[in-house]
Amino acid sequence: SKAKLFDENAKVKTSFKDVAGLEGAKEEVQEIVDFLKNPEKYTSLGGKIPKGALLVGPPGTGKTLLAKAVAGEAKVPFFSLSGSDFVEMFVGVGASRVRDLFKQAKEKSPSIIFIDEIDAVGRARGKSNFSGSNDERENTLNQLLTEMDGFGSDTNVIVVAATNRADVLDKALMRAGRFDRQIYVDLPDLRERKEIFEVHLKPIKVAKDEIDTSFLAKQTPGFSGADIANVCNEAALIAARKGNKAVGKQDFLDAVDRIVGGLEKKNKIIT
Ligand code: ATP
Repeated sequence: SKAKLFDENAKVKTSFKDVAGLEGAKEEVQEIVDFLKNPEKYTSLGGKIPKGALLVGPPGTGKTLLAKAVAGEAKVPFFSLSGSDFVEMFVGVGASRVRDLFKQAKEKSPSIIFIDEIDAVGRARGKSNFSGSNDERENTLNQLLTEMDGFGSDTNVIVVAATNRADVLDKALMRAGRFDRQIYVDLPDLRERKEIFEVHLKPIKVAKDEIDTSFLAKQTPGFSGADIANVCNEAALIAARKGNKAVGKQDFLDAVDRIVGGLEKKNKIIT
């Protein structure tokens, strides 16, 4: 496939303000922002800046968003690729993509490399995988480890990877000097869901006295940030379809029902 696997977003606009909740995770990644902005401060006493951090958590909880916000806050370019893109590749292509990616990121350093779904390439070696060639996957993983070990402490590139399956990852990835920091990104609690609603309601024309974000948060236990973003969008479409001038409470309830229906279907396929 000719799909573009990574794109450099020289001007990332995402900031921590776009990431609701996740206070603990934001605090941890703030350190990465500082390393990128002010490396000398940290290396002055002989310390080495970490090369990688692993964001671990369920789908849709804001891992990609958080990684982008790190780049936005540090004002550095963001290079990204997804592990699942490698699955269909021919032998040798995965490793060369990884090489290209690191080369570009080093040229533009300080910078961030984001690898989504790292489990697709980072599964423990020697364990079979139902999709794609295992040799190719292992070559890609080996190249990734080689690149990470290869950069010196003067290369100000930080690799952030995300997974919802930390349990299947090759332990070699977590070794010192690689993804030795793990940051948990959990499903939002009640208060965090309220905050996520506040972020995603901003662009939406809501019927003012009808919408109470505490009420919406209570209606959505188990929802991820992505689910909540979906509810807000769906509610706006439902109201617009009816020809209404603003989005009301019932539109949100209908949207929640629709998303719950979708989630139930997904779960049925999995189990
Ligand atoms: P996946 O594991 O499926 O790749 P992810 O954890 O990387 O998911 P994102 O892609 O970052 O999740 O989230 C998808 C979208 O959901 C975001 O672009 C954003 O609109 C919304 N979202 C998720 N979490 C949050 C949050 N904490 N605050 C605000 N919006 C959020």
